[in-house]
Amino acid sequence: MTAKSIKDLKPNDKVISCKWVERGLCEQIWGLTCCVHGTLTSPTLVTVDEIKSGKVDYDLIVKRKQELFEGINGLNDMDIGGCKGCANLYETEFGKVDFDSIGGLALPCIFDIQHYTACNERCTYCCYVKRNQLVPPQYDILKIFDLFKEKGKLLKGAHIDFSGGEPSILKDFDKILTYFMDNEMGDVAVYSNASIYSQTFCDLLKGGNISLTTSLDTGLKSTYKKVRGADLFEQVIENLIKYRNSGTDKLFLKYVITEDNRTDDDMWSFIFAMLAFRPNLVMISPDFPYGDLEIPEETVKFAAKLWYNIEKYLGNVAHDFTWAMGDPKFVKYHKDLAEEIRLLKEKNPICECTRLKPYVYPVCCPQQTKATLAQKLKRIPAIISLKLSEWF
Ligand code: SF4
Ligand code: SF4
Repeated sequence: MTAKSIKDLKPNDKVISCKWVERGLCEQIWGLTCCVHGTLTSPTLVTVDEIKSGKVDYDLIVKRKQELFEGINGLNDMDIGGCKGCANLYETEFGKVDFDSIGGLALPCIFDIQHYTACNERCTYCCYVKRNQLVPPQYDILKIFDLFKEKGKLLKGAHIDFSGGEPSILKDFDKILTYFMDNEMGDVAVYSNASIYSQTFCDLLKGGNISLTTSLDTGLKSTYKKVRGADLFEQVIENLIKYRNSGTDKLFLKYVITEDNRTDDDMWSFIFAMLAFRPNLVMISPDFPYGDLEIPEETVKFAAKLWYNIEKYLGNVAHDFTWAMGDPKFVKYHKDLAEEIRLLKEKNPICECTRLKPYVYPVCCPQQTKATLAQKLKRIPAIISLKLSEWF
């Protein structure tokens, strides 16, 4: 490439870009970044001090993205941090690259809300707990989105990760969710420990654009207390039942594997809990509080065993929470996990006969006689499916 800056590039010049640099905007406690992928993140575009100074506008954010793009393409000598060697870089023509808008792509963490880290739990795997860095909101994230909205550059249909910290403790939790909905910004993944119940959130869950991801990490109260540093297991179970009862089809329960919950007792208690909750996805993730640690072999084997049993008893609901993480150690983990699962299936093939079917009240049940006509009609598909399963 002969260009010396972005201004010299022609539309058909081959360049290296990244969808997160083009469209991402992540609100972190230290400022704004293009992405956050576990242990790997882009350099900071705008610092929290710059935001607090009130001098950050639309043009500055776009300019900083262009500078990062130049750095990735060797057009300046900036430190591109996590972007160096990231698996999410791709080759394209310069004419297809656009830094003017944000959102519009349903990619993990294209928007990632983590402008605070305060939480009512103390998980052993939480990097903020490890660093003793649990802080309140550092700035108003909606004002940042407004910079793009006012220019007509806040695109619809992105994917928003809203975590922290514990989002339900934020004073403007409802307001933030409502902003996302009103502006049709896309699907919102709320990562909450579910220890604090929110009726507004429960109502929004029914709408279908919002999901709840809760790390349960075990089905045992004692392990929960040990791993999560808070004796909140009973509250969490109660609230999860209420959220399940909202009728959402986006209840995702997660298992973060640490050295404290890699036991068979934890795994089987969790599987029984999943058979009761019937989450729409079971997300499996290794513990990654420190970017410099390798993923232990025991964790890979446990993840594979958990995945295998979830698939065996619940169906195809297991999901690799880290699939988009471009850090080479996660690329290796994805490969090793797939191979371990393949070996388990080869040894003991999974049969449909071990999948638990939805429970249906028997016709003689007294509750059935009290059911309204609408309730009875609602049960017909499940009854037909149960009867057919007896024949085939
Ligand atoms: S770290 Fe990877 S995904 Fe993030 S902005 Fe850089 S190249 Fe893109
Ligand atoms: S619930 Fe989340 S934010 Fe809170 S301590 Fe655990 S990992 Fe950290």
